[in-house]
Amino acid sequence: MATVKACVRIARRKDNELPLPAAWFPNVKISWSAGRNRSRGGKGASSVYAGGGISLALAQHVAGGQDRTFNEYSHVADSPIIGSLPKTRWQTVVAAVTCHEIAHAIQFVVRGRSARCRKVDFKTAHGRGWQQVYALLRREIVNPLLAVSSSIHMPASAPIPAVAPTMVSISRADKIKAFSKLLGFAVDVRLEHSVNRLIHK
Ligand SMILES: [Zn+2]
Repeated sequence: MATVKACVRIARRKDNELPLPAAWFPNVKISWSAGRNRSRGGKGASSVYAGGGISLALAQHVAGGQDRTFNEYSHVADSPIIGSLPKTRWQTVVAAVTCHEIAHAIQFVVRGRSARCRKVDFKTAHGRGWQQVYALLRREIVNPLLAVSSSIHMPASAPIPAVAPTMVSISRADKIKAFSKLLGFAVDVRLEHSVNRLIHK
């Protein structure tokens, strides 16, 4: 499943009322740096964020192929829709991280572009507008992947881990899996480099 494409497809549905520009697609940068543990998403003046994009720090989620937990920020951690995830497959965690960051890119792209978007707080990084977009994405892309179907088990609010876990080297096969999961198209990027910037044309 191509998570990034699925996010954009969902966000573009008319009834979601998110006024994305017609040709918009997020820039996607993937970092395999073992020392980096924060992914980011948004819209900025330069680099991957120009026009709206995400930069995913994937080493911590992909290395070793083990199950992972995913801790959301405390004010949403207990939400049944956009809260933290119990220990689950790393692919599901990567999907959640991707949805979280794409929601940031979308919030800043649509901010102020319609009457509805001017009424909701799309300015605050984890505010109401972001939460609404994130919920749309989580509901369809991530939450159905969890083992519990009717409700998500929510752990008590947990802080975002500040320290990167011990890293092991990431196999080429794991990188390819992560790419196809995220992007859904053929991988011909320079996987041996630590950072690959992928621009969707
Ligand atoms: Zn965030």
